[in-house]
Amino acid sequence: MRVKKEDMVVVTKGEYRGKTGKVLKVFHKKGTLIVEGVNFVKRHTKPTQTRQQGGILEKEAAVSASNVMIYCANCARGVKVGLRVLPDGSRARYCKRCGELLG
Ligand SMILES: [Zn+2]
Repeated sequence: MRVKKEDMVVVTKGEYRGKTGKVLKVFHKKGTLIVEGVNFVKRHTKPTQTRQQGGILEKEAAVSASNVMIYCANCARGVKVGLRVLPDGSRARYCKRCGELLG
């Protein structure tokens, strides 16, 4: 999985198709991730000391990593990402469309 926390991604499938958001969490084992503002689900909560009333809380649920693409700011769209080895030996991801390094 080439998506990392803090990446901007575009949803390519389902109800949130076309929506861009920041990756908040990555679950590598499951191959899923949480994207800010994407895939809201309602959760029923019980009253707590900090929240007087229980009720319905909307929270992002994980989406499959195969349903998102990395967003390239240069291309202004979701793109395929390749890996490139830099002169110092570290690996960087790059946009296969425009060649821009994505970090
Ligand atoms: Zn690009």
